[in-house]
Amino acid sequence: MNQPLSSSTPSSTSDWQALAGKLTIEGRAYINGAYQWAARGETFASVSPIDGRELAAIASCDDADADLAVEAAKSAFESGVWSQLPPGKRKAVLLRFADLIQAHGDELALLETLDMGKPISHARSVDVPATARAIRWTAEAIDKVYGELAPTPHNQIGMISREPVGVVAAIVPWNFPMIMASWKIAPALATGNSVILKPSEKSPLTAIRLAALAEEAGIPSGVFTVLPGYGHTVGKALALHMDVDCLVFTGSTNVAKQLMIYAGQSNMKRVWLEAGGKSPNIVFADAPDLKKAAAEAASAIAFNQGEVCTAGSRLLVENSIRGEFVGLICEALKTWRPGHPLDPATTCGAIVDQAQLDRIIDYIGIGQSEGASLVEGGQRIMEETGGLFVQPTVFDGVNNRMRIASEEIFGPVLSVIGFDTMDEAIAIANDSIYGLAAAVWTANINTAHKVAKALRAGSVWINHYDGGDMTAPFGGFKQSGNGRDKSVHAFDKYTELKATWLVLE
Ligand code: NAD
Repeated sequence: MNQPLSSSTPSSTSDWQALAGKLTIEGRAYINGAYQWAARGETFASVSPIDGRELAAIASCDDADADLAVEAAKSAFESGVWSQLPPGKRKAVLLRFADLIQAHGDELALLETLDMGKPISHARSVDVPATARAIRWTAEAIDKVYGELAPTPHNQIGMISREPVGVVAAIVPWNFPMIMASWKIAPALATGNSVILKPSEKSPLTAIRLAALAEEAGIPSGVFTVLPGYGHTVGKALALHMDVDCLVFTGSTNVAKQLMIYAGQSNMKRVWLEAGGKSPNIVFADAPDLKKAAAEAASAIAFNQGEVCTAGSRLLVENSIRGEFVGLICEALKTWRPGHPLDPATTCGAIVDQAQLDRIIDYIGIGQSEGASLVEGGQRIMEETGGLFVQPTVFDGVNNRMRIASEEIFGPVLSVIGFDTMDEAIAIANDSIYGLAAAVWTANINTAHKVAKALRAGSVWINHYDGGDMTAPFGGFKQSGNGRDKSVHAFDKYTELKATWLVLE
């Protein structure tokens, strides 16, 4: 049943299309160790943004399925079948899970691309390995973390230990469906919890497929569940559920705020949020290599069609080099022309759905009406394919108070803002409700560190954009969220601290 779909990775569009023809797409939920349709029989269509083709009928889960899933998850947790396994045994199962993800990499990449439109070369070279790495790294770490002993008087022992929180619901977005899921499920499972994953209704296919691989790896029934469906139905039901102990989320700031309300209205479940961003990418005139800075600034807004929470969507450029730098960016964006996502040479794919495309086109109109100057792109293209494509777009002469500079667009639309002094750059960069990421380009070590310290952001990159690894925590200041994914800090979300105090007779 779980044989890899291909023996070698396709190298042309037609090979990928042929492989797509061999796919059998699973659309059912995975509850208590079995694929099944939603209890009320509802479905919705998964439609590919590449050509408008219907890919599969997907189970549209709701509160009835959430109840079944939570009951199974809770009873698996209480049975100890996973929660009480030695960490080394959970590690072994998760390592097998990571191996299976790699072995099925072509199929998973294909599902991701067909479902949400990203280029197949990125799905294969970024999404699949990053997902496997998140699971593998976390599995490797789990039998190397220790508890603590409190500094006590001689006749006492104070043990500080971590225990799994219980039933974890993970609600994730569509831009990196597998990676975002792996950042939650890896630490949640490694620490012994039962996990219910709710993928976005716009990209459920890989999450559903992962359930079968998790089962094959040896994750017991009820410990890992996948509930596809809409946010306002099954997502809300999970967030309000009295037996969900912890809710972890990646998505928009508005939904994140709603989830905090749901937690308050129900059982005060722990809520951990990774939300939106409007990240500043600050280029000083003394940046060591302006061409490299421009290439990375282009990638920071065009990679994954700009549908990236850390997209460098506000480009702050020192005015003395602004004209030259905008020219370099427009040149660099030539390597980011949209194309067919199954063409291995494509770097910029389709926008996830019509609503998101409309949102991007609307913002391009708003930028023009706000008086910013459109210097690159701005058009929907390739409409004849039936797909949803837009040109990477650059606005120069943007003021930070314009909507295109203050609101998250979540598409390939760059706002260039000029500055004259370091203090001005810092003030503009921090003038945002968000604080997810930021970058600074300068050859001056004092400027680099002063700016990095002053930036109110969870990740700061110096002389590059979007660095990091599983070894470093990821998350936001301000309305970009709370808590951190990745690294051993992620374990904080999925464990309760217990203080056990013993007084010796
Ligand atoms: P979204 O907030 O619309 O949806 C995210 C998830 O929440 C989906 O699964 C959706 O079904 C669910 N949801 C929606 N309404 C809900 C409700 N009332 N109750 C429960 N669940 C509900 O976000 P999106 O459009 O899928 O993703 C884009 C957003 O995600 C952007 O704002 C982006 O910045 C953010 N994002 C953040 C990070 C990060 O790590 N900070 C990473 C990727 C994406």
